[in-house]
Amino acid sequence: MKIRLAAPLQSDSVVDGFGIRTVIWTQGCAHNCPFCQNPQTHDFNGGCEFDIEEIKEEIKNLKKQDGITFSGGDPLFQVDATLELAKYAKSLGFNIWCYTGFLYEDILDMGKKNPHYLELLEYLDVLVDGKFENALKDLNLLFRGSSNQRLIDVPKTLKYHKIVLIPESDNIIGSFKEKKTELYI
Ligand code: SF4
Repeated sequence: MKIRLAAPLQSDSVVDGFGIRTVIWTQGCAHNCPFCQNPQTHDFNGGCEFDIEEIKEEIKNLKKQDGITFSGGDPLFQVDATLELAKYAKSLGFNIWCYTGFLYEDILDMGKKNPHYLELLEYLDVLVDGKFENALKDLNLLFRGSSNQRLIDVPKTLKYHKIVLIPESDNIIGSFKEKKTELYI
C-alpha cells in the first residue's frame, strides 16, 4: 500500500498535540478553506508517494516521542493508508491525533459506506475536526486555528455516543506532562 505525503515525517512538533510528536503530513485536500496555511498540500497529485512499510519503519525507529499526529492536507482522503499506519503506531503504544476538515458527524456518515472511517476512529485519541474558518481564527486556541474546530476525545466520544471534548485548562496539560515524566524516568 502507498501513501502520498506532502513532506517527510517531522519528528519534533510541539504544536500538533500534547508533548513532542511526529507529524505525518498527508498530501491532498478538497476542503478549500479560505486562507488555509498549507495550500501546497491540496493537490492530490502533489507531494511524493511512499510505501507504507517505509513509513512504518520510520515510526518503529522513533525515540522519546509522545505520539503521532496525522495532518495535511486531510488524512481522511487516504483513509486506508491512514488506518494502516494508525493501527501500527497504536500497536507500538503511540498516542494518536488526527486533523481533518471533516466534522466528526461527517465521518460517521462516511462510515456507513466505508467502514474504514469508523475503524480509524477506534485508533485515535484525539480528532481535531472541522474546516479552518478565518473569521473564527484565534491565535490563543490550543492546537487549532479557528474556534469552530474541536479537540475531540475520541475514546470517550465512542464510549458515551456523544461528542466529548478535551478540556483546555492548564490542568490537563499539567497532568499530561506528569504522565510523560513518569513514562521516561
Ligand atoms: S482542511 Fe486543512 S488543509 Fe484542507 S483546506 Fe482546510 S485548512 Fe487547508
